Amino acid sequence: MCQTRERRVALVTGASRGIGRACALGLARAGFDVVVNDLPRESAPLESVRAEIAALGRAAWTVLADVSDAAAVRSMVAAAIAAAGQIDALVNNAGILIVNSVEGLEEAQWDAVMNVNAKGTFLVSQALLPHMRARRYGRIVNIASIGGKHGAPLQAHYSASKAAVMGFTRVLAQEVGADGITANCICPGIIVTDMGRTNLDDPTTRDQWVRITALRRLGQPEDVAGPVVFLASDAAAFVTGQTLNVCGGIVLS
Ligand code: NAP
Repeated sequence: MCQTRERRVALVTGASRGIGRACALGLARAGFDVVVNDLPRESAPLESVRAEIAALGRAAWTVLADVSDAAAVRSMVAAAIAAAGQIDALVNNAGILIVNSVEGLEEAQWDAVMNVNAKGTFLVSQALLPHMRARRYGRIVNIASIGGKHGAPLQAHYSASKAAVMGFTRVLAQEVGADGITANCICPGIIVTDMGRTNLDDPTTRDQWVRITALRRLGQPEDVAGPVVFLASDAAAFVTGQTLNVCGGIVLS
């Protein structure tokens, strides 16, 4: 899938579990060496993911940082480049979901969700851009959500953060395209992860989600990895500023 004889390295944030872990392993299977990031509290599971990538025969490194902390992000990106020598593809996957109504939402909850999902995507992209511009090559894949297009009750702040990721990506693509860098979004649907289970807490809700999905099943983290690998690869060289729904056909476009 790399479709190149050149070595390619990807950095994946929030990669200790769920969609991030599946993307990191999918990229490794496609021939990428991979730097995996997560919060310092996730160092043990992140090390397991690193070992899984190494077992696939690819080089792998861990870099711990909170993506919403600008200073930590700068150090993390510098450490990733120093360890791997280059970063060709960035997958901004780290994200959080806090469920609350608009009227009940605390300012701190709004800030937390916006800081990780929207600001984190901006900070990691910004920190990596000088490196990508210097090499005149880059693939940035931002994990948004179908929730950023339509959304669901109790997730207004999450929906706003993911809509922000999509808007950010469309403009980023225009700013960096001349230097051979692409930027695209993936919008997962209901994916069975720790976060995804928040949308599946009772069997009726689960059945409703399956019923409105054209493929009549919930998504697995591996379902997201394939499209991410494509957008991170040389095969997607002429695709930029796009948003791809990976939702089994909940949102049709
Ligand atoms: P998940 O299972 O909760 O995993 C998210 C990972 O990101 C966790 O390891 C988490 O660490 C890490 N993380 C959280 N805050 C971070 C930070 N500030 N810095 C670095 N890492 C951080 O979630 P997921 O379902 O795999 O979701 C991955 C992405 O897909 C998110 O952006 C999410 O919004 C998006 N998405 C998911 C679904 C779905 O149905 N699952 C649907 C649409 C979009 P901790 O556990 O320690 O917080």
